[in-house]
Amino acid sequence: MNRYDSAVLRSFLEEKGHRWTDDVVDADLIIVNTCAVRQHAENRAIGRLEELVSLKRKQPDKKVGIIGCVAQELGEKIFKKIPTLDFVVGTDKISAIADIIDGTAERKVYTDIDEKFYGLASPPHIEDGDFSAFVTIMRGCDNFCSYCIVPYVRGRERSKPPQKIIDEIKLAAERGVVEITLLGQNVNSYRYGDIDFSKLLEMVAQIENIARIRFITNHPKDFSKKILDVVEKYRDKIPASFHLPLQSGSDKILAAMNRKYTISQYLSIVEDIYRRFPDAIITTDIIVGFPGEDENDFLQTITALNEIGFGGIFAFRYSVRNGTKAAKLKDNVPETEKIARLNEIIKLGIRLAQKYSKKQIGTIQKVLLGNISKKNPEFITSTAPSGRVVLIPRREFFKKFVDVKIEKASTWVLWGKPIIFHNKPF
Ligand code: SAH
Ligand code: SF4
Repeated sequence: MNRYDSAVLRSFLEEKGHRWTDDVVDADLIIVNTCAVRQHAENRAIGRLEELVSLKRKQPDKKVGIIGCVAQELGEKIFKKIPTLDFVVGTDKISAIADIIDGTAERKVYTDIDEKFYGLASPPHIEDGDFSAFVTIMRGCDNFCSYCIVPYVRGRERSKPPQKIIDEIKLAAERGVVEITLLGQNVNSYRYGDIDFSKLLEMVAQIENIARIRFITNHPKDFSKKILDVVEKYRDKIPASFHLPLQSGSDKILAAMNRKYTISQYLSIVEDIYRRFPDAIITTDIIVGFPGEDENDFLQTITALNEIGFGGIFAFRYSVRNGTKAAKLKDNVPETEKIARLNEIIKLGIRLAQKYSKKQIGTIQKVLLGNISKKNPEFITSTAPSGRVVLIPRREFFKKFVDVKIEKASTWVLWGKPIIFHNKPF
């Protein structure tokens, strides 16, 4: 989501006559877009800003500012840590950057909440040759999972008008983009008038030249059969690839997290997915060491992960976020135990990912061609419908999609050979 917001901000500033540079020394303005979801991300952002403001010693005219969730969360307080910072702009006030640059801004800190803010009107910057793009369909979150800072820093849930989304995607398609990823903290709760997420997905699937559609993130409490119906109807365009964060395999912990589903409800969604799409890939997020998580709760998570057979697991150590409900609970899992549990889940995640990848050997998959691999220049990087990277021998292609037979697999990467060649452009 931050990558999308940064791409929009770039277009917004370019429309105002500013120019992009990749070089921080050359830049008159440096903006750091930040994530506050875990303390670690926040610390990294602050560390990076400290490095960048040190450039101002030799270049006093250079402006350095912070935007995003850490800006929204800490506001004025950031100046205590970094006194020479020029500005702090929160999630709803991003347009203030234009005045800050022009020198017409009245303040250095803009963190007011604007519940009606749908994002800047500019379309996100798309690099020449980009074939894949993100499109945010909603902002904010109303779920208040007890550990999570997002509802506090990104505000109430707002669904972007469907026409705005469709126009943005059409524009991206004109620039050569063929793959779209719809983004939202909980895309399943998208609603604008009588357009819900399944309807929106169908509208996107009908856009000419958009050949592949992904969406993140799903929430088990809102995931509906209607979504699976649309995926089934547009199988060729919408891969059966679902990121469905479980967070924990213990009902006790799920309730304490305010996730609003039980493990058996989650399992019935998974069953439904695999019944309708036997080759589906499901990936997930897990938090270990949430307050009150005992050995038994953790074992239930391990059991659930094995049973579901995820194609990928993103595992996190619980991080206390100020202002959240869980911050009031006693953080009673010792740090060493949290690390041990995290390592166990990571190892299991690798085993399950390997198992999924190995199963792909011998299958034929329609992959989306990318660029020449930086690590292995004799290969072209492409992506399978599942999202797995597929390396194929380098040669000239005239299409964006090719059918590839998978011959080899490591944990996250597959190797394959094209089986059909068409010499007409896509
Ligand atoms: N809206 C999405 C993503 C939220 S952030 C969702 O609900 O899935 C991405 C992931 O970060 C979450 O799924 C969760 O696993 C993790 N996360 C969020 N807050 C956290 C915290 N305080 N400590 C550790 N992990 C956290
Ligand atoms: Fe955070 Fe829960 Fe909202 Fe995801 S759904 S952003 S985890 S509050």
